[in-house]
Amino acid sequence: MESAQNALAGPGSPGPRILVVDDEAVARQIVTDALADRGFVAEPVPDGAAALERVAADPPALVLLDILMPGLSGLEVLRKLKGDPKTQPIPVILVTVKDTPADLVEGLEAGADDYLTKPVAPAELLARVRAHLRTRELLAQFEKNREDLAAVLEISRAVSSTLKSSEIFGILVDRTARIVQAYRCSLVLIGEAHDTAYVVASHDDPSIRHLKISLRKYPEIRMAVAQRQRVVVNNIQEDPLLAEVREHLRGAPFVSILVLPIILRENVVGTLLLRTSRLTPGFTEREIRICQLIADIAAAALQNAHLFESLELANVNLERLALVDDLTGAFNRRFFFRRLEEEFHRARRYKFPLACIFLDIDRFKPVNDRYGHLVGDQVLKEVTEVIRGSIRRTDILARYGGEEFAILLPMTPLEGAVVEGERIRQAIRTHAFGADVGPVHMTISLGVSAFPAARVGSVEDLIARADDALYQAKAEGRDRLVASAD
Ligand code: GH3
Ligand code: MG
Ligand code: MG
Repeated sequence: MESAQNALAGPGSPGPRILVVDDEAVARQIVTDALADRGFVAEPVPDGAAALERVAADPPALVLLDILMPGLSGLEVLRKLKGDPKTQPIPVILVTVKDTPADLVEGLEAGADDYLTKPVAPAELLARVRAHLRTRELLAQFEKNREDLAAVLEISRAVSSTLKSSEIFGILVDRTARIVQAYRCSLVLIGEAHDTAYVVASHDDPSIRHLKISLRKYPEIRMAVAQRQRVVVNNIQEDPLLAEVREHLRGAPFVSILVLPIILRENVVGTLLLRTSRLTPGFTEREIRICQLIADIAAAALQNAHLFESLELANVNLERLALVDDLTGAFNRRFFFRRLEEEFHRARRYKFPLACIFLDIDRFKPVNDRYGHLVGDQVLKEVTEVIRGSIRRTDILARYGGEEFAILLPMTPLEGAVVEGERIRQAIRTHAFGADVGPVHMTISLGVSAFPAARVGSVEDLIARADDALYQAKAEGRDRLVASAD
């Protein structure tokens, strides 16, 4: 597990490696000993050139760097380290003598993370070193979380751009395998009888669409289905769970297994099945967390795909009607509410932001009255197109009522939705509508709300706040956006 604990020296595990760069043997020794006493791996380095070499060969967790050294000075080493993106994140603490304030200022400007003055007090040294290691660890975690968020967004987007389940399954296993670097990632749907299952996608073999398997051979899947919980097998040759099938696993090219249940309305309908062949067995917390998220996306996608395909058998047009508004091609109100429930659930569970925009065409009735209903319809279609051109592919656009639209913005805070809303407002007011009779100019009013917010505890609250804000935008004179206060 990549916990902050591991980055800090503690009994048992070898601590993080720290380079102690100083030309004076005595000073070097005092610092090295103080660190080693506390479980750090302290590596003494006698000059600047050697320091750069060591960093390049084996990047340390932190560098303690003397400023005044013959040959390459500490400041020169510092500039090299901070000027290279590969070494830039390594914290550098300058060690100075009191009479070099100018050097120190220069050092801090060149990107030093901190400084200590000689003679270095061991207690202070340890406190600073620990603080910087912890910060570094948090930053690394933050970076990873950002990458994960981006990956999840991309998967959501890819999945929501198709309603074909085979494509959705393929996307899910491919992306998951890439994120976790799995030997194999498969999506397995559980049969009604619970003793058979179907591999509907496997990232290493795109031809697999419907491979029947007997769950007798997969105790790890049975366990995940029975307990509705993820199952982690760190070592397939040792885990008692696999005792009954150990024979078959002899010489298997993988070491660890992760099974994540895909749960739809309380039932485990399938699992995401990952196997890795890494030298270090097991999965990190981060990998498990992101795979859990992907399993949730899979559940939502399955629900939509299932509906689509079951209706498709009967009548394709019927199906489109079930999801999409006939006139504009935007999602209909019913579908909007279904997605809203899903997205809200996910936002709450994973603490993601979620925003909602309500928008209504200003003074639309006079357009109908003046040019007729058909032109009115044409304007509605065009408004939909203009909105589509201004939103992200992950956003969900629905026709909420006659000339009212709703947009759901997953993973977007209020400020982001305001920017997007303003972009839509500008796009509409500068568009020339109704080529046949026109140009006709239209404006819209918008209300924006977001979760989390003080007064938003439910789907209904999110809608009510957006609706109130829209009402206020109308009352204040139209052609404007109002963001819900909290
Ligand atoms: P406001 O700025 O207050 O929103 O004024 P408005 O005229 O846009 O609002 P109002 O709610 O008074 O009128 C909405 C109009 O939208 C009336 C209705 O006939 C028209 N409308 C609703 N659905 C459709 C449709 O599908 N096609 C056409 N052509 N018109 C529609
Ligand atoms: Mg209107
Ligand atoms: Mg209206």
